Amino acid sequence: MKDNQHYSVIIVGGGPAGLATALTLAARGIPYALVEAQATPVQKPGEAIPPNARPLLRQLGLEKLMLAKEHHQYYGNKSCWGSEMLVQEEFMKMLHQHGYLLDRKHFEAQLRALAKRGEGTFYEAYRCRRLSRKGDGFVVTINNGETTQTLSADYLVDATGRKASLCRHLGIATNELDQQFALTLQMQLSTPVAQQIYIEATKKGWWYAAPMGKQSLSLMFFTLKELLPPKLSQVDFLKTQLNASPLMTELTKAAAFDQAAIKLMPAGTSRLDQPYGHRWLAVGDAAYAYDPISSYGITSGLASGYYGAHALAATIHGDQEALSVYHYLMENAFQAYLQKLHVHYGQEKRWTAEPYWQNRLDRKNRESRVAQEEQTK
Ligand SMILES: Cc1cc2nc3c(=O)[nH]c(=O)nc-3n(C[C@H](O)[C@H](O)[C@H](O)COP(=O)(O)OP(=O)(O)OC[C@H]3O[C@@H](n4cnc5c(N)ncnc54)[C@H](O)[C@@H]3O)c2cc1C
Repeated sequence: MKDNQHYSVIIVGGGPAGLATALTLAARGIPYALVEAQATPVQKPGEAIPPNARPLLRQLGLEKLMLAKEHHQYYGNKSCWGSEMLVQEEFMKMLHQHGYLLDRKHFEAQLRALAKRGEGTFYEAYRCRRLSRKGDGFVVTINNGETTQTLSADYLVDATGRKASLCRHLGIATNELDQQFALTLQMQLSTPVAQQIYIEATKKGWWYAAPMGKQSLSLMFFTLKELLPPKLSQVDFLKTQLNASPLMTELTKAAAFDQAAIKLMPAGTSRLDQPYGHRWLAVGDAAYAYDPISSYGITSGLASGYYGAHALAATIHGDQEALSVYHYLMENAFQAYLQKLHVHYGQEKRWTAEPYWQNRLDRKNRESRVAQEEQTK
């Protein structure tokens, strides 16, 4: 890999969004470089791809990757939300019949392998350290701990995830619409559980559990940052939440929590002030990050990479409107998501005086006010 290489497009970030962008640019014959900080994929939270995302997987030519033994099909949701009653949703009666529970590391390794087959250049284990505008394009400095290289490009794609590092550097603000955080862990089970997703609301937030194969469970508790205990009390906090949750207690059968395995991460809704500008665009979580209750993050990452790359290819071929059409599509999807999110949280009325659920209501009122103000501008 030579220094001072020039590309049509540089994509920074090799998660689902950056990799979908790379695969689509390759299909459109646009020369690109993809820069990803991690040498090999790392474990990321979130594994559910809902059934209605299957047409997108097929459109991207990715559904065949789901046949790998590391991934699993899932057939429904079991939830306790809004009342003590358990609600079972079966996908088999629906159009797309099942979703997928991904092994995220393996999925990203599969996407990387596909991207490496294309014509683009993959700077794996290189972190983007500096970014500046030069003429009508960009200069990017990347480093892998030993070597520093300078690359230039006519167009730039920010696929760096929630941090939206490149956009921040370009002075584009991220609006954090929510201070929700997740405590996540993997748990070994003594008996297999049915292949479905389990959701349960509690006074302080909500649980999510997804089986990963026969005897492993991906478990997450979502709450507000201000309600989180200090690190050393996380196990006690989770046990208390579990004891207040009959569905999760039944599922986990008092399996042990391992403090070292617990990870804390932001998991609220956020969006950039603008997801594109002169010769750049943002895709995936960098542009719009979704509350995991929607199971929409990976799908949106793949979709925004796909549609964003097509818009970029059209722009490169002289279409002046393509990026604003991309913005319109993404923004409409985001507004539809916000509506559904409010309806969903609004169904839980048992603890409306509790800070977590009060915060859901306040958010809804705040966002409706902002939307009304924007309409009257
Ligand atoms: C707790 C939790 C649960 C979730 N559950 C689900 C779920 O069930 N279903 C679902 O669909 N979604 C879920 N999500 C969301 C989903 O994980 C994300 O939406 C998805 O990973 C976004 O993909 P991305 O490519 O935009 O970003 P990421 O996957 O974050 O990828 C960004 C990449 O950029 C690289 N990078 C960052 N900075 C640099 C730099 N300076 N230089 C080079 N590389 C850089 C990183 O190494 C990383 O690989 C969940 C999220 C959380 C937090």
